[in-house]
Amino acid sequence: MVIIGGGAVGVAAAYELAAAGVPDVVLIDSGPLGGGSTSKAAGGVRAQFYDRVNIELAVRSLETFEHFAQRLGQDIDLRQPGYLFLLDNPRDVADFEASTGLLRALGVESRMLAVAEARRMSPLIATEGLLAGAYSPSGGYCSPESVVLGYATAARRLGARLIPRRAATGIMTEGRQITAVTTDAGPIQTPAVICAAGAWSARVAQWARVDLPVTPLRRQILVTEPLKEPLAGGRADATPFTIDFGTTFYFHREGPGILLGMSDPDETPGFKLGRDDAWLPRLGAAIERRAPALAGVGIAAGWAGLYEVTPDHNGLIGAADGIDRFIYATGFSGHGFLMSPALGEVVRDLYLERQPFTDITGLDARRFATTGPRPEQAIV
Ligand SMILES: Cc1cc2nc3c(=O)[nH]c(=O)nc-3n(C[C@H](O)[C@H](O)[C@H](O)COP(=O)(O)OP(=O)(O)OC[C@H]3O[C@@H](n4cnc5c(N)ncnc54)[C@H](O)[C@@H]3O)c2cc1C
Repeated sequence: MVIIGGGAVGVAAAYELAAAGVPDVVLIDSGPLGGGSTSKAAGGVRAQFYDRVNIELAVRSLETFEHFAQRLGQDIDLRQPGYLFLLDNPRDVADFEASTGLLRALGVESRMLAVAEARRMSPLIATEGLLAGAYSPSGGYCSPESVVLGYATAARRLGARLIPRRAATGIMTEGRQITAVTTDAGPIQTPAVICAAGAWSARVAQWARVDLPVTPLRRQILVTEPLKEPLAGGRADATPFTIDFGTTFYFHREGPGILLGMSDPDETPGFKLGRDDAWLPRLGAAIERRAPALAGVGIAAGWAGLYEVTPDHNGLIGAADGIDRFIYATGFSGHGFLMSPALGEVVRDLYLERQPFTDITGLDARRFATTGPRPEQAIV
């Protein structure tokens, strides 16, 4: 079988398939492994979602991240100071109260915070306009590159072939059967394809006449210079991944500095990977208001990457019905990294025609033509 895409999702699937004893696992990526959106991610991990299936995928993934070094032999630099949403409008507070109830029912520690408590946890914030916080202690961040390296190395050890810098150029079929993936270095015969091509998935799926509504949308990140004073009053490791939900401005510790980002409502879809300054005035205003201590800190680095966005901001995972053995896991709209371990397991089970650990039928791409969108709102 051929996996197209060697980001977090593809390499997790390669590992899980190889670990299950599937022979002839081949993964190709047009660039370096992890070089797509995965290496551009902020590394945030959390279980706080509204949609039950997303909570289950995220919880399962957190468990793998927590045991990654023992299971896969790779340190992924996981920090779990928690994940903190800052809420400034009554509707969001009500929604997060409801999702906190669901999280607890599913066994995830999670609670609403008074504003003063949120400030104690995340001392860089200013609290003007805030109504509450929503906090879960198991959240945090880890290194996406290390996750890719860990899965790729372990998959190779188990016999999978992972081939970077080999681009798929098409999928050959005979009737409903897949016969080969064509690449820039010749065809690879295969009866099965797994589409893990992230923001590039719509094109890959079209080759098999499958409609995956995934749109690329640029997001940018900045990393500050080292802060002169000890970060967050010397409590850097204890400061949660903090998100101002109203503006989507977020930050977390990154070495001696801070990694920060925010969505740009003026951004338009497209494969745009260059940095652009148009978002900076809006970002600056959000920093001034929510984390003024960061306003004067210099910027050391920055980059742009692509979200893989679907119409309802919820993921696509399943097996296509117009063609045999075309499996997809994509479109997680900016939270695909944190779900990648569980997605790898589900892809394995779809391939082996086993029951996955959770019911993922609601994330089937056909929903847009049948049951309708299934919005996930706890996205940033
Ligand atoms: C700025 C930013 C911040 C983010 N922060 C977070 C976060 O904190 N937490 C989180 O969970 N997610 C975050 N995300 C989202 C996350 O990066 C993605 O959801 C995740 O990386 C998707 O993984 P993937 O393996 O599906 O895709 P990718 O990592 O993009 O992998 C797809 C791969 O497919 C390859 N490919 C494409 N076409 C072909 C072809 N024709 N042939 C061969 N290979 C091909 C690409 O080269 C690429 O490597 C962020 C994204 C961005 C841009």
